[in-house]
Amino acid sequence: MTEKHKIETKLIHAGEPKEKYGGAVNMPIFQSSTYEYTGQSDYHDIKYIRLNNTPNHIVLHKKLAALENAEDALVTASGMAAISASLLTFLKSGDHFLAHKSLYGGTHTFITNDFPDLNIECDFIDASDSKRWEEKLRPETKLIYVETITNPLLNVLDLNAVVAFAKKHSILSLIDNTFATPINYRPIENGFDLSLHSATKYLNGHTDIVAGVVIGSKDLVTKVKHKLNHLGGSLNPNACFLLHRGLKTLALRMERQNDNSLKIAKFLGMHPKIRIVNHPGLESNSSHVRASALLDGFGGMVSFEVDGDVIVADTFISNLTLFTNATSLGGTESLVTRPVLTSHSGMSKEDRETSGIKDELIRMSIGIEAVEDLIADIVNALGKI
Ligand SMILES: *Cc1c(COP(=O)(O)O)cnc(C)c1O
Repeated sequence: MTEKHKIETKLIHAGEPKEKYGGAVNMPIFQSSTYEYTGQSDYHDIKYIRLNNTPNHIVLHKKLAALENAEDALVTASGMAAISASLLTFLKSGDHFLAHKSLYGGTHTFITNDFPDLNIECDFIDASDSKRWEEKLRPETKLIYVETITNPLLNVLDLNAVVAFAKKHSILSLIDNTFATPINYRPIENGFDLSLHSATKYLNGHTDIVAGVVIGSKDLVTKVKHKLNHLGGSLNPNACFLLHRGLKTLALRMERQNDNSLKIAKFLGMHPKIRIVNHPGLESNSSHVRASALLDGFGGMVSFEVDGDVIVADTFISNLTLFTNATSLGGTESLVTRPVLTSHSGMSKEDRETSGIKDELIRMSIGIEAVEDLIADIVNALGKI
């Protein structure tokens, strides 16, 4: 398996054992916590599930690294395990870092609630506009942390400027690439130091596990792995197996989800009962030009406001039949949520308002169903408001 293969081929073949275990065409689950000692001298090399080095881990690490053309990868017990282990690896007491102002709720709360106790300081910046970043720099600034596509307004940040800024000031650049996936954006190729994922979402794609991924150079990923080995957030072999199985269809699923969500965004954009639609693939979107330059696809998410208050929004949602009202995203099935009640409930009303997240905002994770059926379902629900 080499870099010359396309990502669709790598999803199937990269990292797979050259000699099949017992002849099994599909990678079996190695349900063993410990392994026979073969002379390892380093604690981290002893074979044990928590040390992230069983056959099910190794095959995934190789496959995931190949997908983003990186040296190494690590799977973790959840997306938050990937994020927290990475930040705690590269930040210590007295350090400072920069992060985009609107982040995944769990990440934002982790930074604002827990980091003061650790004596680690963060300045939130607008990562779509590089003008004010330099004035926030300090001698103890260690890294800059962003997301590829923001949630729930789906803006694409100035990723090239983030990379250039990090290189210029010799700090690390970390990006949560969950919403884009390696199909639509490959951070390491574009100069980022570490790419993080909640594999709970598109990478696994079947809404049946929580998992996370860290991708980057051998040196950086090894450092995170050693931290994770002590924090204990390793992915169990059963979940490794499901993630491995889910990954094989990532390209097919993303292709459909990129396509379905753009068609739905265009449809919503023309509907008289819709006030505003957020989707980076729409020409009217403020980050469309940047998104077109940086991404190979715009992702499977869309958010919008119906013309009315939260009661009208909830009436619309309750009349949908093909969309389940649930948080999370990236599965084969379509989901709908009001972010204010779920992903952004931890954010204060003032912070939400300055970020443009209205109470009536609706977010959809578009699945792989027939788009005609999804649009017909939306038409029907709009008819009820
Ligand atoms: C879901 C999500 C996470 C957290 O992942 P878990 O697997 O739930 O721990 C982090 N970042 C983004 C962008 C997410 O959507």
